[in-house]
Amino acid sequence: MIRITVANQKGGVGKTTTAINLATALAAIGWRVLLVDLDPQGNASTGLGVTRDQRLRSSYDVLIGEATVVETVVATRVPRLDLVPATVDLSGAEIELVDLSHRTERLSRALAEVPDDRWDVCLVDCPPSLGLLTLNALVAAQQLLVPLQSEFFALEGLSQLLQTVERVRQGINPSLEILGVVLTMFDRRNNLSQQVAEDVRACLGPVVFHTVVPRNVRLSEAPSHGLPALIYDLKCPGSEAYVRLAREVMGRLARLKEAEAA
Ligand code: ADP
Ligand code: MG
Repeated sequence: MIRITVANQKGGVGKTTTAINLATALAAIGWRVLLVDLDPQGNASTGLGVTRDQRLRSSYDVLIGEATVVETVVATRVPRLDLVPATVDLSGAEIELVDLSHRTERLSRALAEVPDDRWDVCLVDCPPSLGLLTLNALVAAQQLLVPLQSEFFALEGLSQLLQTVERVRQGINPSLEILGVVLTMFDRRNNLSQQVAEDVRACLGPVVFHTVVPRNVRLSEAPSHGLPALIYDLKCPGSEAYVRLAREVMGRLARLKEAEAA
């Protein structure tokens, strides 16, 4: 199971939208996908139409060791896409985890127990902070995907995230790699968006995905219907961008696999 964490400590940059729609695109081409909602706000869970009543167990239980991943998953309306939902309990986890052993490895250990043939890929949607929840997600992942909002302060905070990645890599999880950076909420008619995209590419180089996710109201409407945009409106520009992003992600994963085998 390939493990990809979607993180950026800024809120509202498109992490959850990216996690949901990338997960859906990968499921649509036949991958069995596990999405772990690690944000106490539970936006990925709500956005996938998983009601509070269905969240009998949650990522909180997994982190504190009260339940296994397999016991916690709920099926979503998307075939082949399963979810470990989040509940508000998770907001206490940042504090509760401090007193537990292996506090940054809780998710990693829980995912290691999952039978390897159950899912092909696991995506983790992070909260907007660099606290213990995001650390758990970074320790659990082989790949990091960073959404950046196409606005003036896009790169602000990125160095802090990359420093955290470097610490995790030098410490507990040397296999953590940066899969890519994706620009979100791009406005073609806005010069600032264009300028930001150019700056980000100049600064970060080829790690930035070719695919840019446009600002598209359909992407923001979909969660209120409990559906990924890809199902709510497959033909909208936002959905089309996420299909392209999924292709790029698969291409990069395949190349990494080849490099590993060589
Ligand atoms: P995060 O998880 O990083 O906090 P979200 O994915 O929840 O960010 O996005 C923040 C808000 O912006 C949400 O209301 C979401 O529906 C909306 N949104 C995300 N991406 C886009 C986009 N490309 N176009 C328009 N709205 C978007
Ligand atoms: Mg979110």
